[in-house]
Amino acid sequence: MSVQNNILSSPIEYLKGVGPLRADWLKKELNIFTFNDLLHLFPYRHIDKSTITAINNIETNAEYIQVVGKLTNLQIIGERKGKRLTATLKDETGSIELVWFQGISWIQKILTEGSIYLVFGKLSYFNNTPQIIHAEIELYVPLQNNERKYFEPVYPSTEKLKAKGLNGRQIAKLTFALWQQITIESIPENIPENILTELNLLNRYKAYKSIHYPANKIEYNQALNRLKFEEFFIAQVRLNLVKIQRHQCSKGVIFEKVGALFNNFYSNHLPFELTNAQKNVLKQIRQDAAKGHQMNRLLQGDVGSGKTIVALLSMLLAADNGYQSCLMAPTEILAMQHYNSLNSLLQPMNISVSLLTGSTKAKERKAILTDLQEGKIKFIVGTHALIEENVQFNNLGFAVVDEQHRFGVAQRAALWKKSVIPPHILVMTATPIPRTLAMTAYGDLDYSIIDELPKGRQAITTVHRNEMQRMKVMEFIRDEVTKGRQAYIIYPLIEESEKLSYEDLMQGYQETKSYFPEPKYSISVLHGKMPIAQKETNMQRFVEGTTQIMVSTTVIEVGVNVPNATVMVIESAEKFGLSQLHQLRGRVGRGSEKSFCILLTGNKVSTEALERIHTMCTTSNGFIIAEKDLELRGPGDVDGVRQSGALNFKLASIVNDRELLEKAKQMAEKVLTDDVELKLANNLPLKNYLNQQKGKTNWSKIS
Ligand code: ADP
Ligand code: MG
Repeated sequence: MSVQNNILSSPIEYLKGVGPLRADWLKKELNIFTFNDLLHLFPYRHIDKSTITAINNIETNAEYIQVVGKLTNLQIIGERKGKRLTATLKDETGSIELVWFQGISWIQKILTEGSIYLVFGKLSYFNNTPQIIHAEIELYVPLQNNERKYFEPVYPSTEKLKAKGLNGRQIAKLTFALWQQITIESIPENIPENILTELNLLNRYKAYKSIHYPANKIEYNQALNRLKFEEFFIAQVRLNLVKIQRHQCSKGVIFEKVGALFNNFYSNHLPFELTNAQKNVLKQIRQDAAKGHQMNRLLQGDVGSGKTIVALLSMLLAADNGYQSCLMAPTEILAMQHYNSLNSLLQPMNISVSLLTGSTKAKERKAILTDLQEGKIKFIVGTHALIEENVQFNNLGFAVVDEQHRFGVAQRAALWKKSVIPPHILVMTATPIPRTLAMTAYGDLDYSIIDELPKGRQAITTVHRNEMQRMKVMEFIRDEVTKGRQAYIIYPLIEESEKLSYEDLMQGYQETKSYFPEPKYSISVLHGKMPIAQKETNMQRFVEGTTQIMVSTTVIEVGVNVPNATVMVIESAEKFGLSQLHQLRGRVGRGSEKSFCILLTGNKVSTEALERIHTMCTTSNGFIIAEKDLELRGPGDVDGVRQSGALNFKLASIVNDRELLEKAKQMAEKVLTDDVELKLANNLPLKNYLNQQKGKTNWSKIS
């Protein structure tokens, strides 16, 4: 059945009680254009009309109460601003005051003294007398076989709609009218029967019905559970289909062999034994790149887990198969560092790597562009400069994007366009992303994970210190420096003002200098505004050990590798996000010596910041930290996550409904593994549903 002849596609003005005027308001205020849109406006609470409290049984700490009684003493009292409408509601046990400050004359008109009313509202007390201000009030109709009276939905509304007579309860009149028209055929099932049975889920019609008009709380929860599962399940099916489709339809270059370059490096020049996790990922990449479709892989690994070497080996694989490869980094410093380390790793094999950044000199740049186009350059490292229009490759076969969150989807797409057949793409994250986020935001990508750190890493000790303890912190740095080690002192970037950040940093630099006077000590300083040549010199002096202390803003954050550095001091640590703190901490603990991370804060720190700091002090596992970050900040704000429609669930939450998401993913994968074309009778409901949602999934290519 198509949407066109489904009642749900009817324009909202055709619903009883709506009409053109209200329709306009519903469209403007709530984006409700069709019956279907109204169906998806979910109540945020239900009023349980079956529970009526006798007035003298009202508990003083009750929040909302519902009472039935006779209305008496209806009168307007007070003057001007104090003017109000009051009434007394009496049942057999006692009485309660009702008060209105607004809409007085209108409310007075619709109420009749002596009639019996059902009253609902928030309980308050005035002079020890219970009262309800601006109660919801309606003539009492003793319960009939009318569902609305049991568990009445209240919908989200807006001030403007309320003024037009559509408050949260009045909208229920509309959904009630809607349900008079909906039949089970209007809401066909979209989850395979066996899954419904296995997970004991309500069918789709029943679930929608019960989320609006449940018989009781239990039924409501069942409905909610089913609809949340559906959201996750459909999203997972879609993401998987995109992935499968890309595998089937995208043409990719084929790396059919592991050749001399890879083997020579692996056997003779690898400076350490790979971890099993690294080996696994390499295997996944090798298999994927040999299949003839384009690889689009997300590589997740904690700080220091050794992603770079995986990238390098993959690049050698590309070269073995005659293709060029590139590695793109988010900052010049990082590009420079990759350039240096790849060159030194490859030097024994007489291979050189090129570098292209925004500050490459015109003449050199011209030569590089020519060599790239002619295929003379096999390996190149760079920044965004690599994806500019005029950079042409001869045959780019493999592109590594380091530290994912600095690059957008558009930039990745720009890389694809660098060859007729798009290159394989390996995207490496700076810090881990929570599993549930990765599943939803990146579910269409192939996914690898390095969940193991190289052997022999020493744990980094992390502590929280405040301003009062600054002297001690400086003494500690001095001790470490005396032992021959190096230290970072990091200042936050102040978002509102580059100038302020700079002043903060420079003041910190002066202070640090007074603790560590020249010529006995020397200090490097680094910030974003510095000319690149000066940055390089300062960085280089720290890398070589000429300077013992590096004072820097977060430009140092990602990737920088100085194994002799053992102390990381983070100033105003309360201003940093969790993943940033973790990333910064990852700059130490890279060598054989014991390392320390000191989080310096003022004396007054918010509870949330304290929680971040506590998390840092108690764990060094990036995956755990990522989960905490998600919990504290919500999915929209976690670093490293692309803004994605896949995260817009109406009911489900990737933070609170993790188990359901795992289940949905598992089920979606199983369905598609067994029956990718959804031909089995059991999967037809799903296939029909997806077909209906045309435009959202390009299903035609598959079936
Ligand atoms: P990240 O994943 O954070 O980018 P890197 O690739 O920079 O980490 O690696 C961190 C450090 O660990 C580097 O000094 C690297 O040489 C080293 N390293 C990587 N893999 C291993 C390994 N298997 N054994 C020992 N050291 C390793
Ligand atoms: Mg790295």
